[in-house]
Amino acid sequence: MEPDSRRPRIAVVGGGVSGLTAARELAVSGADVVVIEGADRLGGRIRGASIAGVTIDIGAESFATRGGTVAALIDDLGMTDQIVRPAPLGSWVIDGPRSIPLPAAGTLGIPAAPLSRATVRALGAPGALRAAIEPLLPRSIGRDAASLAELVRARLGSRALHRLVRPVALGVYSSDPDRLGVTTVPGLADAFAKRGTLIAAARDVRGGQAAAGGAVAGLRGGMTQLIAGLEADLARLGVTVRRGAKVRRLQEPSAVHDTAHAWRLLGDDDAVLAEVDGVVLAVPENVARRLVGESGTAGQTTDRIEVVALAIDDPRLDRAPRGTGALVARDAVGAASKRGGEAAPILAKALTHVTAKWPERAREAGPGRHIVRLSYGRAGSAPETVGLDDAEVRSIARYDASRILGIDIRADTVVDLVRCTWRMGHPPGSRDARPVVAPPGVTLAGDWVSGTGLAAIVQGAREAAVAALTAVSH
Ligand SMILES: Cc1cc2nc3c(=O)[nH]c(=O)nc-3n(C[C@H](O)[C@H](O)[C@H](O)COP(=O)(O)OP(=O)(O)OC[C@H]3O[C@@H](n4cnc5c(N)ncnc54)[C@H](O)[C@@H]3O)c2cc1C
Repeated sequence: MEPDSRRPRIAVVGGGVSGLTAARELAVSGADVVVIEGADRLGGRIRGASIAGVTIDIGAESFATRGGTVAALIDDLGMTDQIVRPAPLGSWVIDGPRSIPLPAAGTLGIPAAPLSRATVRALGAPGALRAAIEPLLPRSIGRDAASLAELVRARLGSRALHRLVRPVALGVYSSDPDRLGVTTVPGLADAFAKRGTLIAAARDVRGGQAAAGGAVAGLRGGMTQLIAGLEADLARLGVTVRRGAKVRRLQEPSAVHDTAHAWRLLGDDDAVLAEVDGVVLAVPENVARRLVGESGTAGQTTDRIEVVALAIDDPRLDRAPRGTGALVARDAVGAASKRGGEAAPILAKALTHVTAKWPERAREAGPGRHIVRLSYGRAGSAPETVGLDDAEVRSIARYDASRILGIDIRADTVVDLVRCTWRMGHPPGSRDARPVVAPPGVTLAGDWVSGTGLAAIVQGAREAAVAALTAVSH
């Protein structure tokens, strides 16, 4: 499609799901859009990886069905028949030497039914009773909590915090609830203000689907199919997509005298990548801060996590001993834990049993072969596996998987390993989040702006597109 002088020309920097969704929204609204992606592939933190001949998601693997936002996008792309549900096996929490099925949760491990057998098993009778009185507490308790941990402790007690909410928060946000704000969990603060009870609020946020780990869905072939679907739709809409073009600098409107457009995007060696009326920055937090001119922040403003996947030939895993996976509480050091003869904690914060969770992957892997995905790293500290060679990581991951799954996985049954390091921004409302001021005409998108998870960021990207169009029409 030829550029049209009457249409606003907008550059979207970053070809992850935020950028591609914003670009689609802009194009549908009539803008002339160019997407500029620094890497050679689109998708950002949605990425496939091949392990033992099976392609798995090594980044995001599912989306929350809450609010229907992602499902609506998938529907717009004509891909609704590609939506798949995980096996309804539930997930577990590893708490010290104990492995406990995760009770049906409202959201973020907040129990939906505090006196259910599963919750009593997880919290013990005193912990479950303490949580059960929550709806009777005055609304004012926890209202001014400075962190998610403080709110949960005040309303539900310490056991619910340590045994359920903390491991789930570590799994979802890579962050301790002490560092997270109440507003970090999309919708929770508003629901709590409305309901006056955290249990009811958490149930509302979840959208009434109470099975542990059940309110998510994936796509046949993996979440990379969402990126493929968006890319095809952008081509249909006439959006230009440039890959392998890192934006290094945004030139201020005042500095651009020799063009009708307001913004100039510069790449390596100051090559001009685009001249546009408006910009959507859908890049990770550290990159966005650098591009809007914050100095000295690159690389320091984000935390890393590492995902390690193992392919294991062991039919004992056919019975999915930890359902679709398990979350590890911080203090998980069992008396019987040994690595190299010495007592050792589990270093992973979560494990997904990929072939138990997604039947399609099990079919591809074949009988007796299993794929598990472990994640390492918490906000404020580097992942334990970073900088280690593959042999060391294989040994750590095998040890952790053995302890989490309760099966001694022999070294000779681990047939393949892949690993991938990711940078995570600070979710909004968290202790480490800092506001960023974008100049007029520049709009920000991404999980660090709108909240963690594809449901929040797809919505956020749509809002960013509207804001970008409004900005250029003034
Ligand atoms: C291991 C892992 C598992 C996850 N699991 C889930 C899950 O199951 N469900 C869920 O909802 N969420 C999950 N998430 C979160 C989810 O993946 C992210 O929130 C989401 O993919 C972020 O999308 P984004 O487009 O905002 O950012 P990104 O995907 O990070 O995209 C940003 C893009 O900007 C590009 N870029 C960077 N710098 C420049 C530059 N200078 N110029 C041009 N381009 C640049 C990058 O290459 C990248 O493609 C997971 C995240 C990780 C890491």
